[in-house]
This record gives sequence, structure tokens and C-alpha cells, in this order.
Amino acid sequence: SPSNLTVKCGGGVEIKETQDENTSNKPIFETLNSSPDLLQKLIYDALVWTSLHGLVVGHKSVQKSGTVPGVGMVHAPFALLPMSFPKSHWEQACELAPVFNELVDRVSLDGKFLQDSLSRTKKVDAFTSRLLDIHSKMLELNKKEEIRLGLHRSDYMLDAQTKELLQVELNTISSSFAGLSCLVGDLHRNLLNHYEGLGLDSKRVPANGSVNQFAEALALAWKEYNNPRAVVVIVAQPEETNMYDQHWLSFVLKEKYPFTVSKRRGGQAVAVIYFRAGYTPNDYPSESEWRARLLMEQSLAVKCPSISYHLTGTKKIQQELAKPGVLERFMEDKDDIAKLRKCFAGLWSLDDTNVVKDAIERPESFVLKPQREGGGNNIYGKDLSETLLKLQKENSEELSAYILMQRIFPTSSQTFLIRDGICHQDQAISELGIYGAYLRSKGKVILNEQSGYLMRTKVSSSDEGGVAAGFAVLDSVYLT
Ligand code: ADP
Ligand code: MG
Ligand code: MG
Repeated sequence: SPSNLTVKCGGGVEIKETQDENTSNKPIFETLNSSPDLLQKLIYDALVWTSLHGLVVGHKSVQKSGTVPGVGMVHAPFALLPMSFPKSHWEQACELAPVFNELVDRVSLDGKFLQDSLSRTKKVDAFTSRLLDIHSKMLELNKKEEIRLGLHRSDYMLDAQTKELLQVELNTISSSFAGLSCLVGDLHRNLLNHYEGLGLDSKRVPANGSVNQFAEALALAWKEYNNPRAVVVIVAQPEETNMYDQHWLSFVLKEKYPFTVSKRRGGQAVAVIYFRAGYTPNDYPSESEWRARLLMEQSLAVKCPSISYHLTGTKKIQQELAKPGVLERFMEDKDDIAKLRKCFAGLWSLDDTNVVKDAIERPESFVLKPQREGGGNNIYGKDLSETLLKLQKENSEELSAYILMQRIFPTSSQTFLIRDGICHQDQAISELGIYGAYLRSKGKVILNEQSGYLMRTKVSSSDEGGVAAGFAVLDSVYLT
């Protein structure tokens, strides 16, 4: 079994190494493991870079670090070197971005599809039910969103056995890390340029315009709203250790564009409401938050996302779209449909009793997912079997709160992961997120593009993968 070894180096940088047989499976790791001085210098330089360039988050242990900027900052967890990723799969993921953008827009317009698909979930999931209530009200009012803005992130893993790029999920609300992820690429390119001896080519780390492209999309939506005095409002959580990711975006907006960006609205017209909150039940501690969400939905402002975009990003809708024939309801282009279907993993609703039986017997091949966002909500392994058995025994309607998904197993490789100034070496796997920005105004597509990427890497023994949730580190791509 692996033993954890902590090497304390000069300059206070700690290197924790998990020792096992296949530690040095790559030349680069041989080089770095055989020259601890070089490794330590690299880590030190990387830590300095993150501090000087705002690749930072609030430290959870420091009071006020989630409310007062500049207090209790620590570098965002990151991988020391970019993660290898095949160019062909990279291109496949990038090409999918505009197709998913279009799909979200089309699905969002089919109110009946959203309500019907989520009708059984509604009975057992109070949070989804409240979202659906807002959606119903908009349908009753026959409210049309003339300007529709989507800032999405579609996440993928590369299945090791089949070599297929498979979608993990599609985020349509609060897609995070557009502000920080482009910095990780900058950091990696900088390190590769300064440490030529590593033999890695910085040009193989693709450019990442995530923060600028999201800012541009928000600015274009503001422009379409066509009121020079109207503001962009960012709805954020009262405490947010990932606030610098959001500050990057609002900073770029304020620097480059002529409007006011605010977290509060004081008697001003609002052009765009950008949600970095509202995706979890915790964001609605009382009725007043629900009233606010309803009010915003009723308003003329461009909502990013609107209630229908939000619902389109639920896991239940992902599963419904994967059913035979469903994509065809929304898309005409055969190539687009084929591209989408190719990246769908196995997805099942829990009224499929055969699959439920199979999942109870072989839980390691599945992931059980509730309709939640933000990481840390999925159920794996023994817990998965036990949960399903319990719900089945109770003949519970609660089964409809979940979906089952094929578990994807990406190839793992040796990685240096840095968190809290400490470097761990371990076998790790990655998840590639591709940002997409979509803007439609009065029947015209103004913007539909891939808008940068987010690479996240986590130790392969961990089930979940959120960076903010504490499972993964930020990474970039090294095209091979
Ligand atoms: P969330 O909306 O909370 O981010 P996800 O569906 O992205 O929910 O799941 C969270 C994490 O769980 C992912 O980042 C990934 O690490 C892991 N995960 C989710 N689905 C799968 C899957 N099908 N196979 C392997 N890992 C998965
Ligand atoms: Mg999500
Ligand atoms: Mg996710």
C-alpha cells in the first residue's frame, strides 16, 4: 500500500509523495524525481506566479476570506504541469460547443418537454419543483425571452477502454472558473518557457480566452438590450471563496466595456442578470430568495440563465435527451445529431428496472446522480447499491429524483498536484470542460462559439471532481 512521504525542502515548500511501483512512468517524472532541486524550484516559481497573477481563492479556514476581497487568499489548487490530451479529442470537444449551445436554446423553447420530462422528479425533489413552478408561471404568462444569453460549460472525460470522449454533464448555470482557468494555461506556458530542460513545448498548451469571451458575451447581451444607462447585475452567494474567479470576469467587464457592473441594484434599469448563485437549494434559505428569483424571471432583463435554460441543464434532461429519437425533435442537421450522440455516455432513468438491478449488482460501473449542481452530490459504489436497494424496498417514488449514468474511467497518469503550497505526486485523471457562449436576439444568432476551456485533474482514487468542493485541481491541456 502507498506510503505518504513528506519531503520538506528549503524555502518552506513541501513535497508529499505517494510511493508506489509505477511512480516514474514518464520521462518527465523521472527527470523531476531524480532532481528534487529542480522540482522544488519549479514548484516555488509556480507558487510565486500564482500569487502575482491573481490565480487565487479564499482560504476556507480564514474568517472573512469569502466576503472581504484581499483577506485570507491562497493560490487556487493547480497541477504543476499541463495534462496530456489527444489533439483529435480536443478538437472534437471544441466542435461540440456551438452544437450544444444551439441544442440548449432549442430545448429551452419547448416548455412542455421540460415540464413533462421533469414531472416525476417534481413530485419528490422540492428544489426542482420550485424551479418548475417559476417556469410554469412564465408559460402561463406566455413570456417570451427575445434576448437569450447562455454561458455554458460542457464537461467531458476520455474513456480509457473505448478511447471515446464522453460528456459528463452540461452546465447552463454559474459555469465556473472562466476567470481562473485561462490563468493556469498562462502559468504552464510560462513554466515550460523558463524550464526548457523539461522538453515540453509551450505552444502545445492551447490559447484559452475564457474570461475575455464570457465578458464579451455579457457585453453583447447588454448592447442588445439597448439602454445605455442599464447595468449588469451579478447575483453572487453572500460567502464565496471562489470570488476571485467572479472578480476576474467583472473586472474585465468594467475595464473593457462602458456600463456599470454591480452586485446590488439601486433603482437602476437592469440589462443583464448574471447568476453565480441560485443553482443550489442553499441559495434559497427563505421565501424572499424565491420571490426574488421569480421577480427577475418576470423582468425584461436578459437572464443568464433564464429559468428554461437552467432547467435544460438538469441531469434529468441530459438523460431524456440521450433516449433514442429525442435529439431529432430538436435538431435537423444529421451531422450535428451524430456528433452529439457520439459523446453521450449511458444514461438511464430509474424506472428501468433492469438497469437498477444491474447497478445494485455492479455499482462500480455506475454513478447515481440527483438533480444538483456544485459537486459532491453523486453516489458511488456501496452507497449506490444501498441507496437503490432501500428506495426499491420502500417502492419509493423518490427513485425519480435520480438518474443513473455509466461510470467513465479515464486513463490515469502521474501528476504533481499543488494545494495549500504542498505538492502531492499521485496517479490522476482529468475532466475537460469546454465553455460555450450563445447569444440570440430577436430571431438572430449574434454569438455561438466555443469560449475557452477548463481542465480539472484529481487523484484517480477520488470519485467526485469539483475544485471548489475540494476534490480536484485546476489544470491546462498539453496537446499530443
Ligand atoms: P456537478 O453538477 O455537481 O458538477 P457532475 O455530474 O459533474 O455534477 O459530477 C461531479 C463529478 O463527479 C464530476 O466532476 C466527475 O468527477 C464525477 N462524475 C460525474 N459523472 C461521472 C461519470 N459518469 N463517470 C465518472 N465520473 C463522474
Ligand atoms: Mg454541474
Ligand atoms: Mg460537474
